[in-house]
Amino acid sequence: MSKAIVFYTSVQLQSHLIAVRLNNKSIGFVPTMGALHEGHMALVARAKEECDLVVVSIFVNPTQFNNPTDLEKYPRMPEKDVEMLSTLGEIIVFIPTPEEIYPENNHFPGVQLGLLDSVLEGKFRAGHFKGVTHVVYNLFAIVQPQKAYFGKKDYQQVAVIREMIRQLHLPVELVACATLRESSGLAKSSRNMRLSSEEKEDALIIIDTLRFIKLQAIKETPSALAAKARAYFAIGALRLEYLEIIDGASFETLTNKWVDSAVCCIAAHCGEVRLIDNLELFSNENE
Ligand code: AMP
Repeated sequence: MSKAIVFYTSVQLQSHLIAVRLNNKSIGFVPTMGALHEGHMALVARAKEECDLVVVSIFVNPTQFNNPTDLEKYPRMPEKDVEMLSTLGEIIVFIPTPEEIYPENNHFPGVQLGLLDSVLEGKFRAGHFKGVTHVVYNLFAIVQPQKAYFGKKDYQQVAVIREMIRQLHLPVELVACATLRESSGLAKSSRNMRLSSEEKEDALIIIDTLRFIKLQAIKETPSALAAKARAYFAIGALRLEYLEIIDGASFETLTNKWVDSAVCCIAAHCGEVRLIDNLELFSNENE
């Protein structure tokens, strides 16, 4: 029997949540774009552990896609998602339409992202973080969670949402969760469904390169190591968009000096599919 309760409108969802709040129960929120996998499920499981009630949204947000083909081909399977979520017990699932999320004359105060919006994903996906902050802001306003769970697989997104919470004084605690990987090392992603088995093999160059960098860190300067890693990556079949070693706190590229918060971030095209991944170089998470 399904234990997930599905709402399609914010009015329905909010009237359900009023009773929850009146009983002083805490709400954990996991925003997703659906096509769920174990990476999403780990976020939901953690939210279940830490909160009285968990809301999972499934919404392929058109405003964060800069590539229309990527939006069109993004996998959508809400029935399967709800079934999967039901295995975790009672979950509230919110599946809104774009009109629900973006009512007419909807006002978004905006966030000054500075460097965060001009490097890595910000640089290569113009307007992406404007779309991400707007949708998460609206979802937070509808769900009003105490805690919201995000994956470090989207490392820059975590920093962007953290900055939005800080600038707009949003009463939400962000919980950043480790990246879940296939046993091969490939980071789990909804986009992996679009890869052939050969492309999945090819895509392992991403984690191989990240692990190579982690192993070699400190032995030479960040810029020298990044250059070596780009050359290593080029031997594989993927087309590299960026490989940067950054300070995960400031998002500045590291050149001569290492810092404890060093992270290597990669984006690359595997056939028609764009993949991203990262590794914190001096931490054991996300390995
Ligand atoms: P998405 O559906 O791709 O928007 O992802 C929804 C949430 O799940 C985001 O916070 C992602 O960072 C997170 N997520 C996606 N893939 C993984 C993964 N492999 N491990 C952990 N979290 C993930």
